[in-house]
Amino acid sequence: MHAKISEFLQSHELDAVVVSKQENRQYLSGFTGSAGILFITRQNRYLVTDFRYIEQAQNQAPAFEIVRCAGIPIKTLTEVKASLSGIKRVGFETDHVTWESYQTLAAALPGVELVAIKLDTLRAVKTAVEIDRIERAVEIADRAFGEVIKSVRPGVRETDIAAELEYIMRQLGSERPAFDTIVASGERSALPHGRASAKIIAPGDFITFDFGAVFEGYHSDMTRTVVLGKASAKQREIYELVLRAQLAGLDAVQSGKDCRDVDAVARKIIEDAGYGEYFGHGLGHSVGLAIHEEPRLSPTNVGVLLAENMVVTVEPGVYLPGWGGVRIEDIVVVTAGKPRILTATSKNLLELY
Ligand code: ZN
Ligand code: ZN
Repeated sequence: MHAKISEFLQSHELDAVVVSKQENRQYLSGFTGSAGILFITRQNRYLVTDFRYIEQAQNQAPAFEIVRCAGIPIKTLTEVKASLSGIKRVGFETDHVTWESYQTLAAALPGVELVAIKLDTLRAVKTAVEIDRIERAVEIADRAFGEVIKSVRPGVRETDIAAELEYIMRQLGSERPAFDTIVASGERSALPHGRASAKIIAPGDFITFDFGAVFEGYHSDMTRTVVLGKASAKQREIYELVLRAQLAGLDAVQSGKDCRDVDAVARKIIEDAGYGEYFGHGLGHSVGLAIHEEPRLSPTNVGVLLAENMVVTVEPGVYLPGWGGVRIEDIVVVTAGKPRILTATSKNLLELY
């Protein structure tokens, strides 16, 4: 991590960066607290946080000098005179700093040129330790899914299933749900982000589960669509179509490939079947300390290439308003050959009785 930020300072001709986004703060320092900033110069590393987090910061970020602040972190930093000598160009995270924070920063660093930067791409290629943590989060979600489907039956609410799923993941070691758990049944399965509702699950419903666990800060993300009872011919047709697109998308994931082209492989299968307009989102996204990271697999992400040890999802879907929908999502590690698929749950259409 440290080599990456040193290289970043050099290549962007910066004397320092202010890191305020939580994921980047954790990535570069190890500190998991909810408040504070990093101020990284070419010589020094400071972590400014308030009294609630001093001990935690000392434990988690031994490479950083911990500075205690009473109010706004950046104001405190300017009192550490040594940190600012010779500092002329300072990067700030343009996709995170608010207008108000920017004004504070500018007032605290008079005469310094503030440079808009984005640090998220530093996190795109994962280390072995990061991949290991993601794998643990994937395992928890796989096991929890295997358990929770045993309790899916007519008459239960979507929220009952979501609550149980989250409870099981927690028991298995998840820190929290990776995002608001999606359990969308019947017509609601046509909502790509149909958060679990009070809807009662009925025979014949498609049920889409999209959920994940968090292990040591790292997320997992998986989607499976099942049928309560016997699948109709149309349900089977749509399911098989999405599965074919998903398998083709997985096959296309490889280092050196353009993100747009990977998306296009899966999208073409759905378009050729006449359902292109019902697949309105990108094929996938990277996953790590955040649930949605760069790079994304989407029609608009042109010229961005996959690299080994990126971790991405492949999740095509077809959503027919008023009828229902299917999405199938796995998480994979990008390699020079076939991707390493982490998600272990079967993708055969599951009919629950
Ligand atoms: Zn998902
Ligand atoms: Zn996803």
